[in-house]
Amino acid sequence: MGILMDSKKVADIGIIGGSGMYSMLSTVDEIQIETRYGRPSDKVVISEYGGKRIAFIPRHGRKHTIPPHRVPYMANMQAMKELGVSRVISTNAVGSLRKDYKPGEFVIFDQFVNMAQGRADTIFDSERVVHVSMADPYCPELRRVCAEALKGRGAEYHESCTVLVINGPRFSTKAESRFFSSNHMDVINMTQYPEAALAREHGICYLGVGVITDYDAGIAEDDAPPASFDMINKIFDQNSETLKSAITDMLPKISDTKGCSCSASLNGAQATKTE
Ligand SMILES: [Zn+2]
Repeated sequence: MGILMDSKKVADIGIIGGSGMYSMLSTVDEIQIETRYGRPSDKVVISEYGGKRIAFIPRHGRKHTIPPHRVPYMANMQAMKELGVSRVISTNAVGSLRKDYKPGEFVIFDQFVNMAQGRADTIFDSERVVHVSMADPYCPELRRVCAEALKGRGAEYHESCTVLVINGPRFSTKAESRFFSSNHMDVINMTQYPEAALAREHGICYLGVGVITDYDAGIAEDDAPPASFDMINKIFDQNSETLKSAITDMLPKISDTKGCSCSASLNGAQATKTE
C-alpha cells in the first residue's frame, strides 16, 4: 500500500512521457508516491486542464536518468491506479521499420510485439492466477480521439501501427532491423512493454502515440548515417509542440463514461478458484 489509499481519486487521466512534456500543463501539485512495487520514475505532477485532473510521470525521470530497461514500469502504473486514473496516454519516440512511415510523422499504436526481456511485467504474480486478454491492448476510444486531435493539428499520422519493443539501451543492428521489418513490424521502441500490458492488467485504458524520429538501421539508405540519440532528440523536439497541442486538444474530448471494453478484459480471466 502506498501513501495514498486505493480509493482516493486524485486524477482522471494519466500521462507518461518524456520530461519535455512538463511544459504542457501548469502544475497544481507534486506527489511523491511509494507503491508496493517501489517508487515511480519521479514525483507525480498533478495538473488540471479541460475539466480533467491529470497525473504526469516522466518515464525516464525529470533529468532523464533512467534507461529504458530500468524504468519502474510496475510502480508507475501502480501509482496511476492508486491516484484513481482510469486512462493513460503515453508518448514515445519510435524508429520506423518501413519506408512509408517517415521521420516527423506520428503513429497511434494498435498492436505491440515484445522482444524485451528481464522486466517484471505482471501484477498477477502470486496467489491469484489471472490470464488477461491482450488481443487488443490499446483503447479504441482513446485512439479515435487521438487521431481526430492529430488531424486537427494538421499532422501526418498512421493509425495502423505495430510497435516492436526491444530491450535497449542499444539500437538495432542492420540485420535485426531488416528481420523486424520483414516480419511486418511497423516501428521500434524500448518502453511500450510492459507499460501497455500493465495498464490492461489494471483495467486502465491505454493509448500509445509515437513520433517517428528516424529510420531504423536496416531501413535507412545505405549511405545514411545510423541514428544517434542526439539526432532522435532533435527530431522529437521539432515535433513535440504538435504532440503536446494534440494531447491538450484530446483532454476535454475524453468522455467521463467509457464506451470501450478495455476493463472487461479481466472478466473471466481468473484461473484461481475463489472457494
Ligand atoms: Zn478503453
